[in-house]
Amino acid sequence: MDLHLSAEQAAVRQLAADFVDREVAPHAAAWDRREAVDPGVVGRLGEVGFLGLTIPEEYGGSGGDHLSYCLVLEELGRGDSAVRGIVSVSLGLVAKSIAGYGSPQQRERWLPRLCRGDALGCFALTEPDSGSDAAALTTRAVRDGGDWVITGGKTFITNGTTADVALLFARTGGTGHRGITAFLIPTDTPGLIRSEIHGKLGLRGQATAELTLDSVRVPDAARLGDEGGGFRLALATLAKGRMSVAAGCVGIAQGCLDAAVGYAGQRTQFGKPIAGHQLVQQLLATIAVDTAAARLLVWRVADLIDRGQPFATEASMAKLFASEAAVRAANDAIQVFGGYGYIDEYPVGKYLRDARVATLYEGTSQIQQLLIGRALTGVNAF
Ligand SMILES: Cc1cc2nc3c(=O)[nH]c(=O)nc-3n(C[C@H](O)[C@H](O)[C@H](O)COP(=O)(O)OP(=O)(O)OC[C@H]3O[C@@H](n4cnc5c(N)ncnc54)[C@H](O)[C@@H]3O)c2cc1C
Repeated sequence: MDLHLSAEQAAVRQLAADFVDREVAPHAAAWDRREAVDPGVVGRLGEVGFLGLTIPEEYGGSGGDHLSYCLVLEELGRGDSAVRGIVSVSLGLVAKSIAGYGSPQQRERWLPRLCRGDALGCFALTEPDSGSDAAALTTRAVRDGGDWVITGGKTFITNGTTADVALLFARTGGTGHRGITAFLIPTDTPGLIRSEIHGKLGLRGQATAELTLDSVRVPDAARLGDEGGGFRLALATLAKGRMSVAAGCVGIAQGCLDAAVGYAGQRTQFGKPIAGHQLVQQLLATIAVDTAAARLLVWRVADLIDRGQPFATEASMAKLFASEAAVRAANDAIQVFGGYGYIDEYPVGKYLRDARVATLYEGTSQIQQLLIGRALTGVNAF
């Protein structure tokens, strides 16, 4: 059913599948109920090299191409989206940005720890009054001698309370996207206050937080990239991030398919397994086609990145389709399970709750449609 994988890619995929079946999937429901994954899973992800994928080995990474990265994120998404999200953010948004834009000192300081899982990163862009319109952010950084003093607030920050370093975006110039600069802020810096947001529909095992910055002082060496270049950095990072969200959604859809096919073969109604009822097969077939289509869209993005080609619009397409497909797949899988799909003895209810946020974060489905529409027409409809 898949395109050809190299021996190395197939081995990474198998490693990830085994890791998920041993270390993640058996615990996912319990982590979800207690609203926290086992913190030890981070170190185990580091040990197996999943927090350093695509990062050069000289900085402690495990190298590898973007298709391998997507294969791992798909498996993690099948096991637990909370864990997949921890990797997507710490590696996909933070470590990759440091590898791409950091000074030698920033790379040496953060990358080995992030790749080993001795430290986590968070990506702090969203604010209470600027979500989709991220360029309207108001957190301000003001120069004071050789330092910056940062004041403001961020919300919905994944890994916010567990991260050791925040890649944070603040306004250093005038209004609009040109006035934004990126900073790497150790989360134990005085004045940075973090509080966890509870009551999420899904991703309940993952820490999501509000950050308050009350005159947080950092040296100019904490600036990531050029002054005023922060928004471009954020957009470039999020384009790759959309691929990793989409890969996680493929994992959710595949998990739904596996669970629904298995259940349909066992559950008997009207004297035969429900798999023998045509309308149940229709549900299964729909999930299977959505899953395969989403996977191919994700792999196309990885292939473009690995060949150094432009990929942002294709990443929006993959994220839009895969996130909506994962929601449909989980909804249809619950239908196959009947009433049993509605209780948490089976994984499909959690898949639906976890999938739902993927149509919202890293650009909502509407924002992806506007990005695709702009690429098609050249007209900005934001
Ligand atoms: C669990 C979770 C984790 C998150 N993790 C992070 C993180 O780690 N870092 C981070 O920075 N952010 C994070 N976010 C924030 C997330 O990226 C934002 O929620 C998202 O960008 C949407 O912003 P908003 O919630 O303010 O919605 P809004 O921007 O207010 O949008 C509300 C609605 O209006 C629509 N809309 C807005 N503008 C337009 C337009 N021009 N045309 C058409 N429709 C439009 C949207 O599509 C949506 O349907 C997270 C969010 C959640 C829920």
